Amino acid sequence: MRRTKIVATMGPATDTPEAIEAIIRAGVNVVRMNFSHGTHAEHAARAALVRELAHKAGRIVGILGDLQGPKLRISRFKDGKITLKSGDAFILDADLASDAGTQERVGLGYKELVNDVSAGDELWLDDGRIVLEIVEVRGQEIHTRAINGGILSNNKGLNRRGGGLSAEALTDKDKEDIAAAASIGVDFLAVSFPRSADDIHEARRLALEAGCKAAIVAKMERAETMEPTIRDEIILASDVIMIARGDLGVEIGDAKLPQAQKCLISRARSLNRAVITATQMMETMTDNPIPTRAEVFDVANAVMDGTDAVMLSGETATGKHPALVVKTMAAICKEAENSNETRRSGHRMENRFDRIDEGIAMATMYTANHMGVRAIAALTESGATPLWMSRIRSGIPIYALTSNDEAARRVSMYRGVYPVKLHEPMKDPKIANRQAVELMIEEGIVENGDLVIITKGDLMGTKGGTNQMKILRVGEHENG
Ligand code: PGA
Ligand code: MN
Repeated sequence: MRRTKIVATMGPATDTPEAIEAIIRAGVNVVRMNFSHGTHAEHAARAALVRELAHKAGRIVGILGDLQGPKLRISRFKDGKITLKSGDAFILDADLASDAGTQERVGLGYKELVNDVSAGDELWLDDGRIVLEIVEVRGQEIHTRAINGGILSNNKGLNRRGGGLSAEALTDKDKEDIAAAASIGVDFLAVSFPRSADDIHEARRLALEAGCKAAIVAKMERAETMEPTIRDEIILASDVIMIARGDLGVEIGDAKLPQAQKCLISRARSLNRAVITATQMMETMTDNPIPTRAEVFDVANAVMDGTDAVMLSGETATGKHPALVVKTMAAICKEAENSNETRRSGHRMENRFDRIDEGIAMATMYTANHMGVRAIAALTESGATPLWMSRIRSGIPIYALTSNDEAARRVSMYRGVYPVKLHEPMKDPKIANRQAVELMIEEGIVENGDLVIITKGDLMGTKGGTNQMKILRVGEHENG
C-alpha cells in the first residue's frame, strides 16, 4: 500500500464523470479546485461529482479549495500577445486601460506595484520565461529593459526576484471564493502568498465566519516567509503547508529550491503539521505518456524527504493523460517508500512530550517500529492522534477508525494514514478493542496471529483525549 498521498488539480481534462472516476481509481487522495480558474458553479459541480464517484468506488477523497491570492498579473494586449526581444524597452503602465497593451507597454492588475519597486529590480513574468530589469520608475510607469525576451501574452503572472511585494494576502475575490468554498464544503482551504501567521489567522477567521471548518493550508511562496521565525509562525498557524515551488522558485531562485523543500518538510513534520510538495512534479506528462527521469527522481526525492503528499497541477487539470500520470506517480511513490530512510525514525527521541495524546502516539510508533506490528488502529474523532503518529517515519500502516466524515477526509492527506469510516462511533470502551480488530479482519487488514496496536480515549466518540494504547494478538483479542 502506498503511504504518500496524491493531490490532483481538477480542470477541463477532468471534467467528465469518466475522467474523474479514472483518476480516483488511479489513486487520487485529494482533489484540488483552483479558484484562479473557472466559476463557482463549475467548482461546485466538480466537487459533487467527485463525492458521488468516490463513494461509488468505495474511496475517501478530500477536497482542497485553493484561493488565488494576490497573484500579480499584467493586463491584456490589443492583439492578445507580443514578442519581446532581449534588450527591448518595455513599460508596465498602471494607468493604461486593461485591454490596451501594445509592443511598447501593457497595463497592470496590481496598480500599487509602482510603489513597491525601484530601478535595478528584476521582474519575472510567466514563471520566469521573461525577465525585465527596471530602468526607472516614472510616476505610474515602470520603464524596463528585457533581459530574457520571448512571447508575452494576456494576464501573465509577475513576480519580483527576491520577493517583498506588499500586496495583501486575501483579496476581495478570495473573500468571495471563501464563501463558495464554504458552500461546497471543502476539507482543505489553501491561502496563496501569505506574508505572516496573521494572514493565516485571518483566513481561518473568514472561513469560520462563512461556516467553513476546513483545514487551512499555507502556501509557502514568498521569499520573505523563508526567514526562520516567520516560517515557523506560519507553519504553526496552519494545519498543512504547501511548498508552492512555482512562485517560490521565482522569488528565491530555482537553485535554492531543493534546500528550501527539505527544510520546509522537516520543519512541518517537527511542528506536527502536514506538508504537500507541489508544482511541475510530472510536468512533461502534461503532453507525454511517460515522465522524464528527472521527474521520477523529483517525486522520489520528495517522498524520501518525508512529504505527506505530492501534487499535480496542469498535469491533471489540462493534460492529455490525467489518470496515467496519477498511476505513474503512485508507482514512483511506492517504490521510493521502500528505501530504508523512509522507515527509520529518530523523531523526538530526546524530547519531552507536553500532551498525553502525543505521548501515546510516540509510544505506539516506537513500539510498532521495534516489534513487528502488522497495523495500528487509532480510534479517533478529530484525526489528531493519527497526525501525531504519522509525523514519525514508519512502514506500518496507521488506520484512522472514525465515525466523523470530516476527520476521515482530513486524514486522507497524512502520510501512511488510511481512513476507515465507522457507521457509528464506538462508544463502549469495554468492547471497542474487539470491534476494532473484527473490523480490521473484515477489511482484510489483519489476520490471526498478527500483532496490532489500538489507541483510544476514555471518552469515546468525542474529540481529543486519546490516552490508551493496547497491544493485541489477533485471535486472542476476545477479551481485549
Ligand atoms: P499556484 O501555486 O499553482 O496556485 O501558483 C503553486 C505554486 O506556486 O507552485
Ligand atoms: Mn503559486
